[in-house]
Amino acid sequence: MSSSLPDYAIEAQGLDKTYRAEGKGESKHALKSINLNVPRGSIFGLLGPNGAGKSTFINILAGMVMKTGGTAKIWGIDIDKDPRNARGAIGIVPQEISLDAFFSPREILGVQAGLYGVPKGERYTDGLLNLVGLMDKADAYSRTLSGGMKRRLMVAKAMVHSPPVLILDEPTAGVDIELRQGLWDAVRALNEKGVTIVLTTHYLKEAEELCDRIAIINHGEIVANKSKSDLLKQLDLKDMYVTFEKEIDNIPDALSAYNVEKIDDTQIRLSYHSNKTSVQEMLGLLSSAGLSIRDISTQESDLEDIFLSFTRNKAA
Ligand code: ADP
Ligand code: MG
Repeated sequence: MSSSLPDYAIEAQGLDKTYRAEGKGESKHALKSINLNVPRGSIFGLLGPNGAGKSTFINILAGMVMKTGGTAKIWGIDIDKDPRNARGAIGIVPQEISLDAFFSPREILGVQAGLYGVPKGERYTDGLLNLVGLMDKADAYSRTLSGGMKRRLMVAKAMVHSPPVLILDEPTAGVDIELRQGLWDAVRALNEKGVTIVLTTHYLKEAEELCDRIAIINHGEIVANKSKSDLLKQLDLKDMYVTFEKEIDNIPDALSAYNVEKIDDTQIRLSYHSNKTSVQEMLGLLSSAGLSIRDISTQESDLEDIFLSFTRNKAA
């Protein structure tokens, strides 16, 4: 391997997967020639609804699913040409937790390090346990750990061979909201040490909290791939529907600065950026124009809308 670091921790080109039909099942084109580069050092979120193809992508990188087309490199290493080293460059936390119930965290990490051929003198079990906040549980049966602790132990297990890339598939599935923070802390700490993080999720909030770059996948296609701030700028749009007591002839002049549309004789829709616009000011303008309001409702663009907007307009 050359000594220079790759620009991208992961590079997928034309990556394709069709699951072949078995028995009565239908074949499924789960990944449609996707191109996806994950910049080195980032916390990268692959966001998409259930069935979008997230796990398929991860499992191809992990060597657990055979791709049907395209190429993928991990840390600059082609997964076909050098599968051993490619796999050595990633740690994977799979969607399903699997831990030996009667092994302690310390034992589980020891076994995993053995599997990866990490010499005893180079193991950093305590460091890992500390990093994931499980030092005080180091010798407890793993079956006694909470869902959040188990997930953190899975993170430590994925890191025993010190890979430069960590991939987490739906890391907060089965983790209580209060316990997620501990998992995020561990992920952030690893990222600060230089580990590139890729995580999949179907929760926008989760991607929003943690990731600096977000790609959206839908029906096996990448429909957006942007920095978080660019994506959120797009998401920040809200609609407010205002219904008046009486019919209005025109859109009130007072609202000319806003993006307004007349829906019918008594209703208008205001589109606005929720973090730039004062709702109070908008409503104040309406009442000083002498309009009395009967009803107001707002609609946030949620993940579903974003998917729709991105799938309608593929150039976005
Ligand atoms: P996600 O992780 O985004 O929920 P998956 O990658 O698990 O999505 O699945 C993508 C699509 O491929 C889904 O329609 C799923 O039903 C299908 N699929 C996944 N695994 C298999 C398999 N082993 N055989 C057939 N179809 C599969
Ligand atoms: Mg999945």
